Amino acid sequence: MQTPAPVDYARATSIDHALQLLEERGPESRLIAGGHSLLPMMRLRIARPECVIDINDLDELDHIRIEGGELCLGAMTRHAAVLDSPVVGEHYSILHDAERRIADPPVRNRGTVGGSLCQGDPAEDLAAVGSALKATLVLRSRQGTRTVAAREFHAGPYETVLGDAEILTEVRIPLRPGAGSAYEKVKRRAGDWAAAGAGAYAVLSDGVVADAGIGLTAVGAPHFCAEAAESYLIGRDATEDNLREAARLAAEACRPHGDQRGPAEYKRHLAGELTLRALRRSVERARGGE
Ligand SMILES: Cc1cc2nc3c(=O)[nH]c(=O)nc-3n(C[C@H](O)[C@H](O)[C@H](O)COP(=O)(O)OP(=O)(O)OC[C@H]3O[C@@H](n4cnc5c(N)ncnc54)[C@H](O)[C@@H]3O)c2cc1C
Repeated sequence: MQTPAPVDYARATSIDHALQLLEERGPESRLIAGGHSLLPMMRLRIARPECVIDINDLDELDHIRIEGGELCLGAMTRHAAVLDSPVVGEHYSILHDAERRIADPPVRNRGTVGGSLCQGDPAEDLAAVGSALKATLVLRSRQGTRTVAAREFHAGPYETVLGDAEILTEVRIPLRPGAGSAYEKVKRRAGDWAAAGAGAYAVLSDGVVADAGIGLTAVGAPHFCAEAAESYLIGRDATEDNLREAARLAAEACRPHGDQRGPAEYKRHLAGELTLRALRRSVERARGGE
């Protein structure tokens, strides 16, 4: 591996300071959070920022709390903190399922929720989780704050709608009392990225699916989600046959590419199978099955 090109370094002391630095240093500057994606890219010289702006001192971006009927995760929350959080586990098992399967402890100790989402890697697990849960992302610039649906945040592989001088500050997930949720992933070996992944939540009312969300990882699903499958399921009984049909629709909506993690048709098969498993476990959990 090569060494990075020469680069300036600045350490932000507050969100406002980070925003000021982003504006002063211009579009060739990059924020650095856990550095687990940016630093390897710099060493390979795929990324050559002129300045990295370190946001590791920004404690105001590092929190997990319930506020206004939402589960709020600060952008600098480490994967390990999400995994260890009882509050997260109480409301959304899907997050614990996904975090347990992201990389390994050294990566989870440094890598952040915000860095993962902003990197926009198509095989990154939290994009599908955010899409499944219909989360909202809070973006801040010196001009103000705006919110974007997680399903609208990624514009393509490694592309987001973040402006050059904008910071992702928080992920907000609506609380859904009684919801069950789950995440399933197939990877070639421990610590690897997904060959495919699927996450879901379900809210039941007298055995009927009152609300549901489905997210997909690494299979080319538009916006990392499966809207036709969700629409099919909502209002129907949570039976095995209906879950299977929703999983079939989810697989149909994927546009996977063959690569070192498997051929396209294998990934489409995984998308269907993993969606079915995630839906089954979500329904079990909604019924208090765990
Ligand atoms: C060996 C290895 C295995 C991995 N396996 C997986 C896996 O299985 N699943 C998975 O999902 N991930 C995996 N990852 C990625 C890991 O989850 C990283 O945490 C993630 O890619 C980037 O997070 P980071 O905090 O390190 O971001 P950084 O590398 O610091 O930043 C990534 C990008 O996001 C930008 N950025 C960071 N924070 C913000 C912010 N708040 N606002 C705006 N822009 C921001 C940066 O400028 C940069 O462009 C793996 C990483 C490694 C090294």
